[in-house]
Amino acid sequence: MGLTNNSTGIKAVDSGLVIRKQTPNDKIIAVAGNPNVGKSTVFNSLTGLNQHTGNWSGKTVTNAQGYCTHGDMTYVLVDIPGTYSLMAHSAEEEVARDFICFGDSDAVIVVCDATCLERNLNLVLQTIEITDKVVVCVNLMDEAKKKNIKIDFEGISSKLGVPVVGTIARKKKSLSNLMQSVSELLNCENKKVPIKIEYNTTIEEAVDIVEPILKQKLNNKINSRWLSLKLLDYDETLIQSLNKYLSYDIFSDTEVKESLEQAVSYLTDNGFTKESLRDEIVSCLVRTAEDVCSDTMQFEEADYNARDRKIDKVLTSKWTGFPIMIAILLIVFWITITVANIPSEILAKGLFWIEDRLTDLFHYFDAPNWLHGMLVLGVYRVLAWVIAVMLPPMAIFFPLFTLLEDLGYLPRVAFNLDKYFKKCCACGKQALTMCMGFGCNAAGIIGCRIIDSPRERLIAMITNNFVPCNGRFPTLIAIISMFFVGVVVCPFNSLFSAFLLTCVIILGILMTFAVSKLLTITILKGVPSSFTLELPPYRKPQLGRVIVRSIFDRTLFVLSRAIVVAAPAGLIIWLMANISVGDLTLLAHCSGFLDPFAKLLGMDGAILLAFILGFPANEIVVPIIIMTYMSTGSILELDSLASLKQLLVDNGWTWITAVCVMLFSLMHWPCSTTCLTIKKETQSLKWTAVSFVIPTVIGLIVCFVFANIAKLFL
Ligand code: GDP
Repeated sequence: MGLTNNSTGIKAVDSGLVIRKQTPNDKIIAVAGNPNVGKSTVFNSLTGLNQHTGNWSGKTVTNAQGYCTHGDMTYVLVDIPGTYSLMAHSAEEEVARDFICFGDSDAVIVVCDATCLERNLNLVLQTIEITDKVVVCVNLMDEAKKKNIKIDFEGISSKLGVPVVGTIARKKKSLSNLMQSVSELLNCENKKVPIKIEYNTTIEEAVDIVEPILKQKLNNKINSRWLSLKLLDYDETLIQSLNKYLSYDIFSDTEVKESLEQAVSYLTDNGFTKESLRDEIVSCLVRTAEDVCSDTMQFEEADYNARDRKIDKVLTSKWTGFPIMIAILLIVFWITITVANIPSEILAKGLFWIEDRLTDLFHYFDAPNWLHGMLVLGVYRVLAWVIAVMLPPMAIFFPLFTLLEDLGYLPRVAFNLDKYFKKCCACGKQALTMCMGFGCNAAGIIGCRIIDSPRERLIAMITNNFVPCNGRFPTLIAIISMFFVGVVVCPFNSLFSAFLLTCVIILGILMTFAVSKLLTITILKGVPSSFTLELPPYRKPQLGRVIVRSIFDRTLFVLSRAIVVAAPAGLIIWLMANISVGDLTLLAHCSGFLDPFAKLLGMDGAILLAFILGFPANEIVVPIIIMTYMSTGSILELDSLASLKQLLVDNGWTWITAVCVMLFSLMHWPCSTTCLTIKKETQSLKWTAVSFVIPTVIGLIVCFVFANIAKLFL
């Protein structure tokens, strides 16, 4: 789900790739493929690295490298983004295409899904047009077998003119044939000639005008036939990459320029426009793929994915789709709340026991009080709070969520919501980026790369903050438990908590729709782009992998990020709570200053200050509130939610305050990491500012309206 940049210790890189060979003889192998065909599984199995994999289209947006040995050779495997084509509609396609064209790889493995090979061949054919060093890996053979699909590998291989190998990526053994084929290909033991895709005669004649000149100019560095087609098609992003690769502008060469002009006018004279040329190229690829599969594949059972369709009928139908979605959300929250409570308590006890021992140690060494205060009551206590409160829900929520992802349910969520996003002139894939935002909004922002249209991508980024991330869940859960359910944990109470939490999430989703619509009729006008949402087959999840992935890739990643922020924040807050100016501490001065404004929003100065100081990470908002309320200048040793509630009520909290804090937690500025990610992704301060201001202004308005209406009725 892209929650980690790099969970594996290997370097993730963008298209400007630095290959790290172990020895100069290492061969570079690009691993390409459509999304969700098991490409990352192949990559991970071969390299032995636990690279993160997800279950929706276009998730892999950076390249990763790993090493693999076969025989006496070492290969550097480069995992390139999953794409359907190389015609560069999106950032991923550009990265993939550029790496295959200009990445100087020795061979390309194209991973395909055996259950829909014909469709996957589109990418294979496009790759063969660029390079003849291609090995086709027909993965998911176990699923194909279950669906009674029979594939004649020899037949396909002789039609394509490249090696074709069947694999089951989950079984590492089945991949040795693949590496054997790669090795044979590189040693030129493959005598076949790769297929040449024949286009319409006019196109072929136009290519003939340009190709000889390109061949001579480019010195066979790039496939001249393929490049001629791309130049005729005027693929702008490719031309940019090509010029960068060549270090000069290809059009500055008069011979190339003239031959291209001649070929383009030849095409125009024969009735071709830019669009019809592209259409013809695409249809020709589709026809060729059909031809390759026509007598090499057998489907014994006509309706081979009948089971999936039956399930889809229920999960994506108009009547049942939404209730099931909400019920699943509710169940996930319910399990999270119920189960998290016990380890949370144990952790809190353990961590505060350690605190007492630390205090003993400080006393033993006669350490000054301020040092003990700063390090133990400041840094350690905030850290302990963050770990005790955050770790258990995350350790339960993430595996559940990864399970849904692995089962193939999340694309169905996107499918259900697609219609509504279209109505807001936004993109259905936004639903997937929202799902990523549940874990961490910064990850949700990175996930927005799966949206091709820059306009729709911006909408998704600006609205991502309306989904509460894992740093905000514990705050929401704690407030719900204290003020609306009752602090005693029992199954009914936690079910009611889950229900209220689901309502908050639904409010966030409704806000996303409303703000998306607002943006599309104001600063981000446009029509929704059409795209086909991939509904991958349902797959049995591998429980071990789910747990390992969700704990290491997600839980520990998010937790370590929170800890890195919480430690210095703990120190600063402790200092603010202990340094006095006049009669009052700095913290009290600041909260007093904010108090009148915060009261208008149904909160108080301490709460608003906590949200402001919580800018580095949302998880520290509650500890700051507590610290401000405590006269001791350190957060209390929290032994139960009941004592926390008492503290809040003593400081004037009512149910209105509780609702306003929840609303503001749902709708306020994104945390610093998310802001930095938005800046990095948009390369624009303006859009970062918009993403900061919009949820904040909406949060302020909603809290103001709610607080004042509620007070009227009290
Ligand atoms: P990617 O999007 O192409 O990188 O696909 P992933 O590697 O993330 O795989 C998607 C899903 O397919 C995961 O749940 C994998 O465990 C599963 N998968 C991958 N290869 C196989 C296979 O050969 N057989 C089966 N049954 N599942 C597979």
